Amino acid sequence: MLTLRFKALDTVQARETVSVIPPSDKISDYFNSNVFNDAAMLQFLSKEAYKAVSNAIRNGEKIDRNVADQVASGMKAWAMSKGVSHYTHWFQPLTGATAEKHDSFFEPTEDGRSVEKFSGSALVQQEPDASSFPNGGIRNTFEARGYTAWDPSSPAFIMEGSNGKTLCIPTIFVSYTGEALDYKAPLLKALHAVEKSVVNVVSSYFDKQVQKAFASLGIEQEYFLVDEAMVIARPDLMLTGRTLIGLSPEKGQQLEDHYFGSIPPRVHDFMVDFETECYKLGIPLKTRHNEVAPSQFECAPNFEEVNLAIDHNQLLMDVMEKVAQRHHFKVLLHEKPFAGVNGSGKHNNWSLITDTGVNLLAPTKDPANNLQFLSFFVNVIKAVHDHADLLRASIASAGNDHRLGANEAPPAIMSIFIGTQMTEILENLLNNKATSKASKAASINVNKIPDILLDNTDRNRTSPFAFTGNKFEFRAVGSSANSANAMIVLNTIMANQLNKFKAEVDAHIKKNSSKKEDAILEVLKGYYKTSKKILFEGNGYGDEWVEEAAKRGLNNIKTTPEALNAYISKSARDLFVSNEIFNEVELNARYEIMQELYVKKLDIEAKLLAQLATSHVIPAAIAYQRNLAESVDAMKAAGLSKSDTEVQVNLIKEISGHIKTIYGNVQKLQVELEKAHHAKSSHESALAICKKVKPLFDPIRDSSDSLEYLVDDELWKLPKYREMLFIK
Ligand code: ADP
Ligand code: MG
Repeated sequence: MLTLRFKALDTVQARETVSVIPPSDKISDYFNSNVFNDAAMLQFLSKEAYKAVSNAIRNGEKIDRNVADQVASGMKAWAMSKGVSHYTHWFQPLTGATAEKHDSFFEPTEDGRSVEKFSGSALVQQEPDASSFPNGGIRNTFEARGYTAWDPSSPAFIMEGSNGKTLCIPTIFVSYTGEALDYKAPLLKALHAVEKSVVNVVSSYFDKQVQKAFASLGIEQEYFLVDEAMVIARPDLMLTGRTLIGLSPEKGQQLEDHYFGSIPPRVHDFMVDFETECYKLGIPLKTRHNEVAPSQFECAPNFEEVNLAIDHNQLLMDVMEKVAQRHHFKVLLHEKPFAGVNGSGKHNNWSLITDTGVNLLAPTKDPANNLQFLSFFVNVIKAVHDHADLLRASIASAGNDHRLGANEAPPAIMSIFIGTQMTEILENLLNNKATSKASKAASINVNKIPDILLDNTDRNRTSPFAFTGNKFEFRAVGSSANSANAMIVLNTIMANQLNKFKAEVDAHIKKNSSKKEDAILEVLKGYYKTSKKILFEGNGYGDEWVEEAAKRGLNNIKTTPEALNAYISKSARDLFVSNEIFNEVELNARYEIMQELYVKKLDIEAKLLAQLATSHVIPAAIAYQRNLAESVDAMKAAGLSKSDTEVQVNLIKEISGHIKTIYGNVQKLQVELEKAHHAKSSHESALAICKKVKPLFDPIRDSSDSLEYLVDDELWKLPKYREMLFIK
């Protein structure tokens, strides 16, 4: 009988492309067609309802229950005009995935007929039976009620399934007692805080006209694609999203022939298909390309307001996974699906923008004399410097542990790259020296080719947090993460920092009766001086940096259970509580949930590795050993001497050695896993799994991979890297 591996190989050989026909050649014809956006609201809402929603979006004003009825009725009319039968509150519990529970508009009436109904109260608030979502001890089961509440700042949208369409209403998710149980509630608070502080600083010192501001985010999403038949034959990919064993292929990414290469046809069709779905949902995807590793790809949208960008990224991941099924692909969003080739990240490009359209992190032609830009720029540096550990914690996950510091992704040491020009400007600021005007464009000196404007902000792919000309790029976020964690922290520390800045500048003006400009410069100089050690322009992958960072006193926190401790440090508590992002209960709960999630993920990996080693790897090795032993017997019977059978005998011995190693370590792993589960707290459990169980993965994997190398290919049951990684 054919094993799953060989069936998969046959299946993949026979795959054909799935043709995709977008609704129109022009994306603008169908962009936003499934979104209850401004145009749809104008058409389907009463004037009063339209105004109320607009005010809620723009000014954060609350929507009255009566008006909510009108909004609901307009939304229903719009949705039904598009063939929608059901609605759901769409929320982001702390599982990392999005959640939905569908209700139909349909309601039977007393006279035996029925109507389609959607009331304001159903729009505004729901009580999903949500007792199984992680709550970190906030809810006891006897009062396990959780509420979802409409977030009007993110528009409702229609999710199309192959059978029926659903109106999705973005919501926050809170407990009966009001504590946040999701990502969105604290995110909205952090965004509100940063908006307020930005407006306060800008309108006080730079531009009285500015009344509003927002934080912007553009999320680059990396992912792998593997044929679905291969994934079915790889229980580890299926259950953990990564390969727990597997020998690196002879050809990996060393030829660098995949990056920006021509996109394979099957993949291209998949991309067009999911992009089409995304455009209908208003996700402004802009770029697509091959990434560095074989079978690795990336897409990126235009930036948007942070809350919307995150909703869109969550939706994007969901849409990609669903559309992939049509193309018989599996999307791997895990940070490190394959050992020995690059992992995936989710670069978070972030900036602050005013309602007058000014990007506060974009230098003008003369950045040295642009005090507004310098203020925001230096305040980011100070904020990251003061809360580097918290920022590190915000990207901590079992998956991302494989990536950070693995010489392919930014290290776990938080540092900021700003480029030579900005370094020079800040140094001159500190030393009261004038800075020469920004460097000019270079001509490339080729006839017929127009001059190219060379960007004078350099790039550094090895930095976890890099200034890229008009925004900061937080590159260390993991590919499967909900960016909210990173954005809650980044925007909170920025809000907090800007408030401090405002207070210090004001105090300076008062004390020294100095000019505003002088006071600002003095405060910025002080910030630069104290936070300079977080700036690093060199190679973040090098061992020298690890040493240098240690000398500078920068932390290098390598594992999730340890990194998460920053969330419950004194400074984090003060920060979150005083800025009203989390209260103590919420913070503790979140910490518990993240430690538990780590334990659960590693527990699944450990058990599955033990299972694969025992039921897939060892039997294949034994079968091959038997063949070898039979061959030795046959050779002896044919009169061949000991020296003739030496290779076979050595192979048998080598295989025995690996089997012993695997068997012994699987037993140890089971003992350590049991112990870890009996630790005193979730943190102790997580630490034990991290320090005692996870290290045992290595010898098991090493021996298994050696066996994959030795054992007859026909007998090996799991698809090999070379079979999974190269899509035609
Ligand atoms: P690079 O990474 O090479 O700088 P881009 O300039 O295309 O590439 O930017 C990558 C991402 O950064 C895109 O999603 C883009 O929309 C986003 N981006 C650009 N400007 C901003 C900004 N002001 N704020 C937030 N994100 C931005
Ligand atoms: Mg980038």
